[in-house]
Amino acid sequence: MVNHWLTARPASPQTPYATRDLTPAGAPITSRSMAIREIISLPDKRLRLISEPVKAITPEIRALADEMFETMYDAPGIGLAAIQVAVPLRLITMDLAKKEGEKEPRVFINPEILSSSEDLSVYEEGCLSIPEYYEEVERPAKVRVRFMDLDGKIHEEDAEDLYATCIQHEIDHLNGVLFVDYLSKLKRDRVMKKFTKAAKLAAK
Ligand SMILES: [Zn+2]
Repeated sequence: MVNHWLTARPASPQTPYATRDLTPAGAPITSRSMAIREIISLPDKRLRLISEPVKAITPEIRALADEMFETMYDAPGIGLAAIQVAVPLRLITMDLAKKEGEKEPRVFINPEILSSSEDLSVYEEGCLSIPEYYEEVERPAKVRVRFMDLDGKIHEEDAEDLYATCIQHEIDHLNGVLFVDYLSKLKRDRVMKKFTKAAKLAAK
């Protein structure tokens, strides 16, 4: 079964400016001080770093998570690992809200896969660090995951469907693994070559 991965798919028709720019009375005012960070992409070698555990939830970690959400929503994407904004820490932001306009922001600190199902599922994956490239990847259909939230609380959850695929994809980033690593050598070489060439052209 092939499911569709939502990363960086073309946005649905936008609300006209007239209504989009209005902030309803009582709506939370989003801070304008938050910054959108640059997302690093192939062939940047930092994507191969093993990220370090987060030792304490400091104001800097909270600010990093806020900026990662800003960056992820702006891209747009559904998951982002800190290393993708060049910070080698084990922190992931994710939002798998299904409905347009709804937000379900989630933060995963020092996440670990505790167990994986034997049955597999296939999703067409994409990655904000490998823009506009999509391929089908087979992964365990269900995983049990343990992580800390921004309040320092430890959670254990069973993830399935898109959640299972997304958390595995993002935890891979913390270990320097990219979804193209699961493809055939031929496909991987082709995509690596394409991005290396594009980076060389951009540097000229
Ligand atoms: Zn990715």
